[in-house]
Amino acid sequence: MKQVQLDHILPRVRKPARYIGAEFNAVHPDPDSLLKFCLVFPDLYEIGMSHQGLQILYHLLNEKQNVSAERCYTPDTDMEELLRTKKVPLFSLESRLPLDSFDVIGFTLPYELCYTNILTVLDLAGIPFRSAERLASHPLILGGGSCSMNPEPVADFFDAIVLGDGEEVIAEITALLLQAKQQGNSRAETLEALTGISGVYVPAFFTPEYHEGQLVSIKAEKSDYPKVTRRIMAKFPEVKSQAPPLVPLVKTVHDRLGIEIARGCTRGCRFCQAGVIYRPVRERSVDDIMKLARKGIDRSGFDELALLSLSTGDYSCLATLMPMLMNTFAAEYVSVSMPSMRVGTLTEDIIEQIKRVRKTGFTVAPEAGTDRLREVINKGISRDDFLETCRNAFSNGWNLIKFYFMIGLPTETDEDIEAIVELSQSARLEAGTGKGGRAQVNVSISTFIPKPHTPFQWEAQISLEQSRDRINMLKKLLPRRGFKLKWHDPEQSFLEGVFSRGDRRLANLIETAWKAGVRLDSWSEHYHLESWQEAAEKCDIELQWYLRQRGQDEVLPWDHLDSGVERSFLVEELRKSTEQAYTPDCRVHGCQKCGICDFKTVAPVSTEKDAVTSKIIDLARRGNKRPGQNEQVVKFPYRVHYARLGDARFLGHLELLQLIFRAVRLAGFPVLFSRGFNPSPCISFSPALPVGVESEVEYFDMDLERPLGNSETGKQELNKFLPDFIRIDQISAAKTKNPQTMVTFYEIRLPAPLQDEQLENIKSFFEMDSFIIERIRKRKRKELDLRPLVRKLAEKDAVLFLEIISHQSKAGTNPREVLEQIVGLEGDDALLAKIKKVKLETLL
Ligand code: SF4
Repeated sequence: MKQVQLDHILPRVRKPARYIGAEFNAVHPDPDSLLKFCLVFPDLYEIGMSHQGLQILYHLLNEKQNVSAERCYTPDTDMEELLRTKKVPLFSLESRLPLDSFDVIGFTLPYELCYTNILTVLDLAGIPFRSAERLASHPLILGGGSCSMNPEPVADFFDAIVLGDGEEVIAEITALLLQAKQQGNSRAETLEALTGISGVYVPAFFTPEYHEGQLVSIKAEKSDYPKVTRRIMAKFPEVKSQAPPLVPLVKTVHDRLGIEIARGCTRGCRFCQAGVIYRPVRERSVDDIMKLARKGIDRSGFDELALLSLSTGDYSCLATLMPMLMNTFAAEYVSVSMPSMRVGTLTEDIIEQIKRVRKTGFTVAPEAGTDRLREVINKGISRDDFLETCRNAFSNGWNLIKFYFMIGLPTETDEDIEAIVELSQSARLEAGTGKGGRAQVNVSISTFIPKPHTPFQWEAQISLEQSRDRINMLKKLLPRRGFKLKWHDPEQSFLEGVFSRGDRRLANLIETAWKAGVRLDSWSEHYHLESWQEAAEKCDIELQWYLRQRGQDEVLPWDHLDSGVERSFLVEELRKSTEQAYTPDCRVHGCQKCGICDFKTVAPVSTEKDAVTSKIIDLARRGNKRPGQNEQVVKFPYRVHYARLGDARFLGHLELLQLIFRAVRLAGFPVLFSRGFNPSPCISFSPALPVGVESEVEYFDMDLERPLGNSETGKQELNKFLPDFIRIDQISAAKTKNPQTMVTFYEIRLPAPLQDEQLENIKSFFEMDSFIIERIRKRKRKELDLRPLVRKLAEKDAVLFLEIISHQSKAGTNPREVLEQIVGLEGDDALLAKIKKVKLETLL
């Protein structure tokens, strides 16, 4: 299979490192594997790389014999345009193979606003959008993820969709597809066979029927396949050979090691879809979490470990786990964060532990302003609980707390909106007078979206105008000083609401909008509601209709998809919401009869009674010991010389820094850290190189707490944890003081020899006394004389040799500027020039 060539593409796009792969721990797929998967996240790389589910499946598939899995993320709009104009198909990151050469493309369906991105990927891969239009030669298109419990708006685009936990079902699907391939089964035969796997939804076998615009039934085309039930993994698999986490080269939204400590939440918030579709609660044992943490940090170099679950504070052994984690990792400057905490579970002890390395973000979600409305939604927290949590956070040193609230919840009145402001102000007062001036409260607001499979699935979503009015009200009421109001764009919530409870007719809308140029809707800079409204008009679809209240006798588009929670439970919960009646958590108050557990194979899994055998790992495991605040520290300085070649030119300076920090950590070098609230490694770098430039002569300086020993071994160790395109050449003891003035040498390979006019430009440059250019920096116009900064510029056989003089304290120039301003190269000629910073000897 032919690899896609990107040399003429990557220099032209924003953030090219998104497309080069080469992440630490990425798999090198076997080209001869019988069944090839490409797992696709339908949004940009920096979002997709933070997604846990995709990584779990990636490693599970790659562990199987005869199976390989690669990855692909939706390209940004500039990349999409270039791929189209250059007629290059979309490709996988690992092998750079065209997507249509895979047997299976597996999409994650994480949120509704990624739906057009699915079409971008299919189109760039040359695969027909609709399942019904695909031929035997096309890959099978699978889906799975949070949106799969109502995938109807995109159902026509998929051959099959997995409902529920993917870990076990993917093994069954893989076995079936391997067999189908070996037997040469037709596409139709394979789809039919997939219906035999529990939890696999094949949309082609269900036909929605409408009457006067209303969905009246969902006809099952196979009598033995009348509905599809969500797949539930009874418990987490035992941790034996857990695959190491992928470590990105690009900064992603969650740049950390994520460990799923529990799945499911039975608190019973009536608005929460995750609280239904991930039931019951299954906790991982403390021992397994400790093993995953140790292995994950050792094999990733991350300096943050996030405990993931729908409500981390509810993990039954958190009070045991947190000190164990901190006692193990604090000495290594690894912080532990809990992205989803719940008011009432953040005890003083837990807060004390969290702040031992770095104070990670402090976020709480009261959801509603009044106790009354919190009772309607079964939030189960009171104003007093909430204020106590804030008091604890402020008194433990946090100056910034974030709150999440929703607007548009059922029965909400103006009083509830006003109470959001009052509650936030009261919370800030908990900081006390000492900190009153510095305490900051960020209030985030989003519009409530009634989600399928929740007790509120029949409720109406407030209109766009109502959303805007309520946000405006908050803007007026919330004081500026000490508060920041943020809100999720109500126009995006409007569309999310349409798709959340949408039906199959919306596939036309998605396709029409995509054809009109709609892309990357989850990014506010790309999102335009008007484009969707125009598309809806063309398709004769009334968007607002999808936000209406639904009757309990209505056929809902997801009625044939069974979450496992009984409908009668949802109806009863809806009724209880009108009485503000509380449904307690079944973990502590006994089964509330939601219907999901049979108590034979499926039941809540708690670690509370598990014996914990993990030992607290030696604090000085790596030899690092955190010095006291006033302790005198002896430093052992080293300079590390390295080259960054090939694809390394696509890394930005900050990305390179992160990569080196992680490699140094992975190699186990005893690096000293700065002191204070946010300790960082004592490593400093040579001046930043512009993106697009390679170099043979980079360096960084690091301070170690003890001598390195054999520097040759150190070099080899470091190289083990770096991608091929970064090469450590030498580690020498002691820093070299950098001179005030330096000459840097570049070799520039041009796409074509220079023309006479360009050679003339160079000649006249050296005849001038000064060559003034204008620059706009931070909106200010500045002049710079390039003449004294360029010592040599000469061409031979389409290779330019350039010498640039730089002064430590003065503005300098760079090769790209020289090409454009002095030589007169423009556009692609300048962009496609291969620039390399070289040693002087190379030039002689
Ligand atoms: S069936 Fe009972 S124990 Fe199981 S999740 Fe539902 S309420 Fe909890």
